Amino acid sequence: MQTIKNYINGELLEPFGKQYIDNYNPSTGKVYSLIPDSDERDVELATKAALIAFPSWSAMPKDERSRIMVRISELIEKNLDRLAIAESMDNGKPISLAKTVDIPRAASNFYFYATSILHYASESHAMEDTAINYTVRTPVGVAGCISPWNLPLYLFTWKIAPAIASGNCVVAKPSEITPMTAFLLSELCIEAGLPKGVLNIVHGYGHKVGAAITAHPKIPLISFTGGTKTGAEIARVAAPMFKKLSLELGGKNPNIIFADCDFEKTIRTTLQSSFANQGQICLCGSRIFIERSIYEKFKIEFVERVKKLKVGNPADADSKLGAVVSKSHMEKVLSYVDIAKQEGGTVLCGGNQVKLDGEFADGYYIAPTVIEGLTYDCRTNQEEIFGPVVTLMPFDTEEEVLVYANSTQYGLAAILWTENLTRAHRMANNLHSGIVWINCWLLRDLRTPFGGVKSSGVGREGGFEALHFFTEPKNVCIKLK
Ligand code: NAD
Repeated sequence: MQTIKNYINGELLEPFGKQYIDNYNPSTGKVYSLIPDSDERDVELATKAALIAFPSWSAMPKDERSRIMVRISELIEKNLDRLAIAESMDNGKPISLAKTVDIPRAASNFYFYATSILHYASESHAMEDTAINYTVRTPVGVAGCISPWNLPLYLFTWKIAPAIASGNCVVAKPSEITPMTAFLLSELCIEAGLPKGVLNIVHGYGHKVGAAITAHPKIPLISFTGGTKTGAEIARVAAPMFKKLSLELGGKNPNIIFADCDFEKTIRTTLQSSFANQGQICLCGSRIFIERSIYEKFKIEFVERVKKLKVGNPADADSKLGAVVSKSHMEKVLSYVDIAKQEGGTVLCGGNQVKLDGEFADGYYIAPTVIEGLTYDCRTNQEEIFGPVVTLMPFDTEEEVLVYANSTQYGLAAILWTENLTRAHRMANNLHSGIVWINCWLLRDLRTPFGGVKSSGVGREGGFEALHFFTEPKNVCIKLK
């Protein structure tokens, strides 16, 4: 059985306590590797290594840092198949998805920030002929990066790449539920010649490793992606220490479909935005609002196609859904189907665990589920389920659907289907959301700001926003006369 190691000061190390956590393969329900159960001693060692590496890494010319990062990106591409298989085994997602989305995006994250840093300039503000101000942006020192299990390498690298590109050193913690590709990344960083201590990866539980990173006095910045409750706990600990915080949290995104949409495109993309990655993407549109005049037509066509989505072995090319990430997550998702029924919902398809044969008999599979007959303000439509479960609701007017869409505590992403340009702009303006996709979903330009409002988070990632976050601006004012 493979034993994962921490990556500290350029070396692969056992945790201090020599304790390990079982790592499950969700597609079989079996333990297949061991994860270090690290604690604050490992975080301390990693932080020391990062502090020692910081002066030379931050002083290294940008193009040298950039070249090392490009090498990491190329190594990720070279290892695409191996990483995709590992991601699928750790997370349960179809290999085809890991191969086309997760791993290519991890390579792009490194490439994007390796090159962005070369074009990152600071401002200057002239006060006519009195004075000139210029802004100097310096890295903060040691950045703490904590990521979730749903898009493991994709989101882990989305934080690490801008952090190290801008000259910081990092203490990072991947999810203890999906640690494997972060471990493989540490091997690739060694191969790429990343100087020791620049990136340190400490594996283990959130309440031990994550909490130790958050509370560490020498880590002045935390970039976190995960659940809203965990984000609140991190903010509680970090705020009195005046740490810089970026929190990318939960979502409960509306998918609003007007009668004048391109029906075929809408259905096709809605299948994706509902069930990609088993519905475990913070950007999935789990509340589908449909203009009443096409409600029945949409429902019949959508449900018919959902029933045809194959739930199966993640290695099979035709599996559209693999396993959800863990037994407890499967139970949580299915408990929401019960809640939906109690709230008066009708399950149109799915709603149950899927039992596969042979070695997959104990895997965590859920049939893609569509529910109707619920009010917009019931628990099923207000709380994040984060699985392959969507609800359908009719609406009559723009004003009404805006109330429904904006009714949750979340505000991460919204999806809108209409061929009416004026309405599209009007709706986009009125949706309480960090991202609005019109006639598309998950179309990402890495230069754009990424993040949510309300309980979906604080701050923005992406493009220069991330480089702003990982640097401290200093204004220098020079009097000219
Ligand atoms: P989680 O909050 O349980 O865990 C996320 C990370 O935080 C893990 O590495 C975990 O070990 C760590 N952690 C747990 N407790 C901690 C603590 N007290 N201090 C510090 N770190 C701690 O989230 P999850 O279940 O892994 O991920 C699912 C959630 O992530 C969903 O709510 C989803 O919407 C959200 N998410 C948001 C985005 C986004 O960009 N907004 C992207 C992906 C996932």
